[in-house]
Amino acid sequence: MVRNNMEFKVPYNYLPQQFSEHQLFFDLWKPVLSSGEFTLGPFVENYEKNFAEYMGSRYCIATNNGTDALILALKALGIQKGDEVITPCNSFYATTGAIVAVGATPVFTDVDERYQIDIDDLKSLINTKTKMILPVHWAGASPDMFKIQEIAKENDLFVLEDACMAIGGKIKGKRPGTFSEIGAFSMHPLKSLNVAGDGGMVVTDDDDLYKWMKKYRNHGMSDRNTIEFWGVNMRIQPLQAVIANYFLDYVDNFIEKRNNNAKYLDSLLSDLNGFVKVPERPEGFLETFSLYMLLVSDRNSLIKYLIDNGVEAKIHYPVPLHLQPASTNMGLNTRVLKKAEQQADELITIPIHQYLNSSHMEIVSELIHKFYEGKK
Ligand SMILES: *Cc1c(COP(=O)(O)O)cnc(C)c1O
Repeated sequence: MVRNNMEFKVPYNYLPQQFSEHQLFFDLWKPVLSSGEFTLGPFVENYEKNFAEYMGSRYCIATNNGTDALILALKALGIQKGDEVITPCNSFYATTGAIVAVGATPVFTDVDERYQIDIDDLKSLINTKTKMILPVHWAGASPDMFKIQEIAKENDLFVLEDACMAIGGKIKGKRPGTFSEIGAFSMHPLKSLNVAGDGGMVVTDDDDLYKWMKKYRNHGMSDRNTIEFWGVNMRIQPLQAVIANYFLDYVDNFIEKRNNNAKYLDSLLSDLNGFVKVPERPEGFLETFSLYMLLVSDRNSLIKYLIDNGVEAKIHYPVPLHLQPASTNMGLNTRVLKKAEQQADELITIPIHQYLNSSHMEIVSELIHKFYEGKK
């Protein structure tokens, strides 16, 4: 049995490698430390300017983390108690946590074959209480944002995109998170653009939303002596902002490497039909592969086999959001969401990050082939 990270031939965690050149990060921090600009200020503004340019959006506001980015956006759009927000049942906890944090009610949809929000199910859930659709670019792949925008317009609903895993992705040339009123992003260590710690971002093209969110992030302050409305402190740390700004120049390269690994592993596994199901990769969608996920038969045994043989496979996640005790206790769990529940039993996440290459993909493929040999 493999016990610690260093022993994995194909590790999931790449952070020690990404941050191994300590001097480089100390050098990034030096000007911040010399300046004493520790709350907002020029380093944060510089990062925001570059991020907005990268995204092709007018404004962006850096936050503490992705969860805060979602809460800030929900607040800005006036989502509150009594409002229903439609969201997929298979995201990371923060998507639903943010909806509940502003007092609104999450309404869960089932998901499709690509693990994204099920559009037909979404349509069927719209009623007079519905105020917003909160789709997730889950795993760094994307749902059909054009269709979601169309449905939102027809029904007069806001859209907030959870693009926390999707920095560096593209849908027909446009960045995830820029299709809607507001997009929210995370720079958590395991996202495509990450920092040594937490970080988040919202983007918008709307003047009023921008001005409101900028103030709310900083106590509702319009100047040092005036509070225009009560806000909170959701500020990013400048020490994190300079790291994010540095990696912004590398994120496209990271995504390219991840795509090369993903494509190669897709092809190596293509003869395992019936045991391994690779999701469709539609034309025009550039995925970030924050998670490379497959549906496999005999999942739990396969995971154990891979881990025992040095591949750090994982599950994202074994229990969907609507089946979590937090949801059940609130009475949110009222429907069977068949696809998501089935996927929760069959999903496996394989490491394919930018510090791995084709030889790692071959190790993974050989092991998976060996596992299913004799079962054919
Ligand atoms: C990571 C993540 C979040 C939360 O971001 P944090 O920065 O960890 O707060 C929200 N939604 C999704 C889909 C995520 O992957």
